[in-house]
Amino acid sequence: MNILLLEDDLDLGDAVRLAFEAEGYRVVWVRRLADAIAALRGVLPDLLVLDLGLPDGDGHELLAWLKQESAAVPALILSARDGLDERLRGLDGGADDYLVKPFALQELLSRVRALARRSYGLDSGQLSLRGLLLHEASMRATVDGRLLELSPSEFRLLAALLKRADRVLTRRFLEDQVLAGSAAESNVLDVHISSLRRKIGDGYIRTIRGLGYVMDRQSVATR
Ligand code: CA
Repeated sequence: MNILLLEDDLDLGDAVRLAFEAEGYRVVWVRRLADAIAALRGVLPDLLVLDLGLPDGDGHELLAWLKQESAAVPALILSARDGLDERLRGLDGGADDYLVKPFALQELLSRVRALARRSYGLDSGQLSLRGLLLHEASMRATVDGRLLELSPSEFRLLAALLKRADRVLTRRFLEDQVLAGSAAESNVLDVHISSLRRKIGDGYIRTIRGLGYVMDRQSVATR
């Protein structure tokens, strides 16, 4: 799992980075809002862990920026601000969890594991949703036990949708982040999606007209 850590405090940032690395996570640690945005413009991490009080701004701004960019990144806030208003602002602003400083590293790790389970099923190395099962390392995917023959692009699309089930992924996000710009022209994305639907069956990927696609945890009749 790739984690982007935004924390300006040197001692705390270093301790958190070491704890994450000991768990086997890959960590990019930045200390300024601007550096976090630069990092997020590259490859999106699987999880963003962010402080709120930063030398060049406020962590809430980063969550707002992510929303505006339609970049679906699970986020966990670390902050000394423990007021209810502040926590609600963070959670309503798109964060998935909020941990008040000071905290025990063990609790942070436990919450990160819970988020990974909730968002991805990543701790088992497998992504699953109803009858679908994906193993990213081996690029194997099955539906109801049947092995799927997917192209690399189809596999990446399916993994992205599964990782962020129940969240709408915009066309722009899928084209830029998942298909890495190769879909810039015409309807490459739609072709991949309809091919995926043929292979995995109906009721998994739903079109949100004018916006993008969503993978539903619950089966739905319409697309
Ligand atoms: Ca700070």
